[in-house]
Amino acid sequence: MGIKIYNSLSRQMEDFVPLNPEHVSIYSCGPTVYDYIHMGNARTALVTDIIRRYLEYRGYTVKLVQNLTDIDDKIINRAAELGVSAKQLAQQNGDAFFEDSQRLGIHPADVHPKATEHIPEMISLIQTLLEKGVAYVIDGSVYYRVNRFDSYGKLSNRKPEDLLAGARVEIDERKEDPRDFDMWKAAKPGEPSWESPWGRGRPGWHIECSAMAMKHLGTTLDIHVGGEDLRFPHHENEIAQSEMATGSTFAHYWIHIAFLNIDGRRMGKSEHNFILLRDALDNYPTEVIRHFLISAHYRHPLDYNRESLMKSEGAFRRLSNCLDALKKYDGQLATDETTTSPLQHAVQEMKSQFTDAMDTDFNTAQALGAIFTLVSEVNRSLSAKNGTPPAVFAQAYHALNETCQVLGIYDAEAQDRDGDNVEQRDNLINLLLEIRQDARSRKDWDTSDKIRDRLKELDIEIQDTREGATWKIVS
Ligand code: AMP
Ligand code: ZN
Repeated sequence: MGIKIYNSLSRQMEDFVPLNPEHVSIYSCGPTVYDYIHMGNARTALVTDIIRRYLEYRGYTVKLVQNLTDIDDKIINRAAELGVSAKQLAQQNGDAFFEDSQRLGIHPADVHPKATEHIPEMISLIQTLLEKGVAYVIDGSVYYRVNRFDSYGKLSNRKPEDLLAGARVEIDERKEDPRDFDMWKAAKPGEPSWESPWGRGRPGWHIECSAMAMKHLGTTLDIHVGGEDLRFPHHENEIAQSEMATGSTFAHYWIHIAFLNIDGRRMGKSEHNFILLRDALDNYPTEVIRHFLISAHYRHPLDYNRESLMKSEGAFRRLSNCLDALKKYDGQLATDETTTSPLQHAVQEMKSQFTDAMDTDFNTAQALGAIFTLVSEVNRSLSAKNGTPPAVFAQAYHALNETCQVLGIYDAEAQDRDGDNVEQRDNLINLLLEIRQDARSRKDWDTSDKIRDRLKELDIEIQDTREGATWKIVS
């Protein structure tokens, strides 16, 4: 079976056939960098990361482009509130976005274009649309003439009369049609602006993505990804601009990621109910947060709550314990052909279920199910001591490592590093205890107390017993 993707454009499952049989191009709408990213943004970014990793696992080379919207009303307003320049604010939050993404184990995109670095491309795209009569200028702003694009509404499946309902569309009396949207905004005093054939101004959000996607991926791309909220009007407008300008299909597959909710409502900045990704990462390991964010299929809403994170914590512990126990079998010789063991069968079963799940519109929830079924089988075989050949344990170890790496829920090297760090920490504490013991035997109580108190500040508690001092971590 090949990969199938639920295409938001056709509203059905489709076989995935990239334009080039070996290479896949993906454009993902990145953050508007006016603040730190929250867990909802992280869900969208993580799903994109996993789609890319899985396509690579299936042998494709992938070019992923994820933009940064670094000029926008929200940035301008926030910068004014904070008394910094829009550029400074966008730079700081852009850096924070890369830092947070890296902490979540998200591989950087191949290109992270910034809107402010693509103004000439945006101007040239707007000019093409003006030449084609699909746009008009009013007082230095340029608007897209929606009624010229017959298939406007095809992505969001809205009829012309519904196109305004439920969407935030700026009321502007000067527009020919209320559905028309601005691609270039005439400069307002004090706002950042750039030279253009229509006077100074700045680009609209939709033209930014059309221009950056086509600059880095060509006129037609394979997959366009974004959160559900972007389907209308953002993506609808991206299609209208790009397809009218080039006459070609803009993107073949549209993937929309459902919301991360909290208390049944979408997590969002405007809702004031968000948990920042960096705060969550201070409280839970990366793998736990990744497990949680992919524990539901991306087209289903997911609810952020403590219980679910605790479940993911338990799952991660089960997985690491199992892989720790299997590690010693790593490098065992291949089993001879005649050996059959139930675990060997379970390993094959897991691999094929994992691939089936991920092939079916990247169903991470089912893929996790396959992985954890094998974890249970391994634990059973390990405790049963039923003569499972070591080479079969080695196979299980490899299969689990490989599939967990696609999802990024276990990193064998990082675990080894953590293990080494813990050992080093323990050795250092024991050394301090030895020094303290020497001080005590010299009746140097000041040094002895200092060591005890300073360790206490680091949440390490010393207890003096008749057998000598012991320590434990308290938090
Ligand atoms: P923004 O910075 O608001 O433009 O959002 C960046 C990305 O995160 C976009 O693809 C949004 O669709 C997505 N996003 C925002 N809120 C959520 C949420 N609660 N759940 C999932 N994705 C979200
Ligand atoms: Zn976009």
